[in-house]
Amino acid sequence: MQVDTLITGAAVITMDEDRRILRDGVIAVQGDRIVAVGPSEELARRYTADTTVSGEGFLATPGLVNGHAHITETLIRGFLPEDLPFDEELMEWVIPLYKGHDEAEQSLSAQLAVVAMLRTGTTTFIEAGTVIALDAVMEAIAPIGIRGRVGRWCEDRAWDRAADQTGMTETACAALDADCARWPDDGRRLSVWPNLIGHSTGTDALWQHASALAQREGLGVSAHMSPVLDDPAWYLEHEGKRPIVHLSEIGVLGPWLNLVHMVQIDEAELALVAASGTNVTHCPGAAIKCGFGTTRDGLFPEMDAAGVNLVLGTDGADSHDMVRAMALMAGLFKDGRKDRGLFPAAKVLEMATINGARALGLGETIGRLAPGYKADIVLHALDRPEWRPLNNPVNQLVWSASGASVHSVWVDGERVVEAYRCTKIDEGALYARAQVAAQQILSRSGLPAHGAWSAA
Ligand SMILES: [Zn+2]
Repeated sequence: MQVDTLITGAAVITMDEDRRILRDGVIAVQGDRIVAVGPSEELARRYTADTTVSGEGFLATPGLVNGHAHITETLIRGFLPEDLPFDEELMEWVIPLYKGHDEAEQSLSAQLAVVAMLRTGTTTFIEAGTVIALDAVMEAIAPIGIRGRVGRWCEDRAWDRAADQTGMTETACAALDADCARWPDDGRRLSVWPNLIGHSTGTDALWQHASALAQREGLGVSAHMSPVLDDPAWYLEHEGKRPIVHLSEIGVLGPWLNLVHMVQIDEAELALVAASGTNVTHCPGAAIKCGFGTTRDGLFPEMDAAGVNLVLGTDGADSHDMVRAMALMAGLFKDGRKDRGLFPAAKVLEMATINGARALGLGETIGRLAPGYKADIVLHALDRPEWRPLNNPVNQLVWSASGASVHSVWVDGERVVEAYRCTKIDEGALYARAQVAAQQILSRSGLPAHGAWSAA
């Protein structure tokens, strides 16, 4: 049988129903789909291909799914102080810097984030709902070849009592409608979701509008909730109940919703999340850097036991490497609970693949290397010290490797990374432009350089 692409002789973590791992496998790709995955001895002679890629010395995995990524923060990475209280960092540093980017700078930042994701094996992401120049960013990243669901910065709470709350809500709802209509989920890799900032920034009407839009159009909603105790405190003060109880009562919990962080929830909220099929994305890198208290207070082992679909994300500017995020996730609760049985490597790899796919409503489409699934494939180079000897590819992917060993990536059967370089954007030119833009943004901000030592 003739196919477009054949990857031969690779070790393969399939993530299929049987969780098959092949020592010497073949992956056959026709168009944007995988048509066969199996041992070389069974398949090698059955297929001929226009392009045959030798997978010898490589491990193939499904493309990773990043359940929560801010893509317009990358130009300020390394600049944010790590020692300020979370609220102060957010209000005085992150948000002003964010909003201080012009359209071209946001586009550049997003391109850099997309390159960082593809280069470390992420083929699909859910953006955090914090893009301001939505159309410019979508146009800038679409040619690079990643799959993603992006949202515009969307909040409608009138903090000033004199403000026109009804008008603000109408404006926000109309923007969600227009964005989703302009970038529909019509089979292209990138589309727009009615994502919300979340926390306490959205009125009930906005949550309900986003939720109805998502259900009507087959989309999802992503929103931040309860990384620290501010959200529970706000909802208790203003609604007389905790946030997840309130969201349940207004009818917006469900399998289309992806709540992000969810570190400071209680048992009753956990039960509502589990019963409603709401997805939860944990961002372990952000949690530990920001001091959310995830190992002390987080109920992630309990959410897992209750059957909540747990997804992994990278969150902000520091790193978009999902392999790093997997290692953090695999370790946090072993240490915090003194229980080595929590979140084994195989489980966190499920979080980064099939669970992420499910949160996107793409559980039958991506997240596995199996016939009929999209050809979103990552080749990790094994000819590196962290991979040798190859004894257990799942354990070594999570505990020994990082995204730096990602050599090649296909999305929809198209090779978008080859020999450690993105094929559809000039990385060198991108890095040079990013350096210039970052210096301009930081100097415009008037914020001081922050850190223990100053550069000469
Ligand atoms: Zn976030």
